[in-house]
Amino acid sequence: QLHNTILELKGNIRVFCRVRPLLTDKECNVTEGAIVSYPTSTEFLGRGIDLMHHAQQYSFTFDKVFNHEASQEDVFVEISQLVQSALDGYKVCIFAYGQTGSGKTYTMMGRPEANEEKGLIPRSLEQIFQTSQALQCQGWKYKMQQYAIKHDLNGNTHVSDLTIIDVCSINEVSFLLQQAAQSRSVGRTQMNEQSSRSHFVFTLRISGVNESTEQQVQGILNLIDLAGSERLAKSGSTGDRLKETQAINKSLSALSDVIFSIAKKEDHVPFRNSKLTYLLQPCLGGDSKTLMFVNISPEAASVQESICSLRFAARVN
Ligand code: ADP
Ligand code: MG
Repeated sequence: QLHNTILELKGNIRVFCRVRPLLTDKECNVTEGAIVSYPTSTEFLGRGIDLMHHAQQYSFTFDKVFNHEASQEDVFVEISQLVQSALDGYKVCIFAYGQTGSGKTYTMMGRPEANEEKGLIPRSLEQIFQTSQALQCQGWKYKMQQYAIKHDLNGNTHVSDLTIIDVCSINEVSFLLQQAAQSRSVGRTQMNEQSSRSHFVFTLRISGVNESTEQQVQGILNLIDLAGSERLAKSGSTGDRLKETQAINKSLSALSDVIFSIAKKEDHVPFRNSKLTYLLQPCLGGDSKTLMFVNISPEAASVQESICSLRFAARVN
């Protein structure tokens, strides 16, 4: 292998928690005392998170917990080795799970137009292209193929927004990022509404061949912005919307079942229970690597949803 990769020691599934900052005065005012605290944090990073709800404390431990002070760069530093392993031929899935408004899209895409606030997708692309360029002097030639798939969940799931681009040089990265930013702004009016009701799967396929040793690698990097995990009661769904919410919940619990059963090394993994897990099957399990971000909103009004999200993530941890 070309690089040292993480995840070897403790199985191939990791769970990171990220808490976004309080955003508005309203959010800050409603909060009576902190509902979120970090028992083991130094600066922005630790492993534990405690939530207070009705005078009861709920404690969770994850592989990493990023508090509201973690920057996009701080988060990327902790996943860059995992991203790198796709160049070694590993299949990698990075998910963002959480209720709508908890920071999933900020974590994955961020604001690509603002350098500091770029998310994991643009940062990963940049790193992969830079590293693949650097490896050229060791005889490696890489070919990249990028596409994005949106899963709508209104009954019959379908695939849309497909873009396939062959990428050979780092000059094309900025083009890709431009495209990503563009498709983002085109849908901006409807985006919050729509994106919270669908899974967004960004895929980069990487094939590399070493011209002197003839060694070949085929890696895949999937970055997945999942549909909002909020439950029925809060979303106040009726009719078609109710069906859609049920479909989302079903698809998220199917994902949890799959990851849980992989983590427990069970013989039968129920990949076929949802379109998402069926699509991602080649990239889940085996020697592939999975990272789940559970995104949390820190305001008091979300505490119940947050506890649900943390429980979901603790199950796959
Ligand atoms: P989701 O995709 O889970 O619905 P978003 O990523 O759209 O949530 O985040 C909701 C709002 O919070 C957005 O305005 C986003 O810019 C902001 N936000 C989320 N995470 C952070 C963060 N870590 N720092 C600053 N702003 C954030
Ligand atoms: Mg979103």
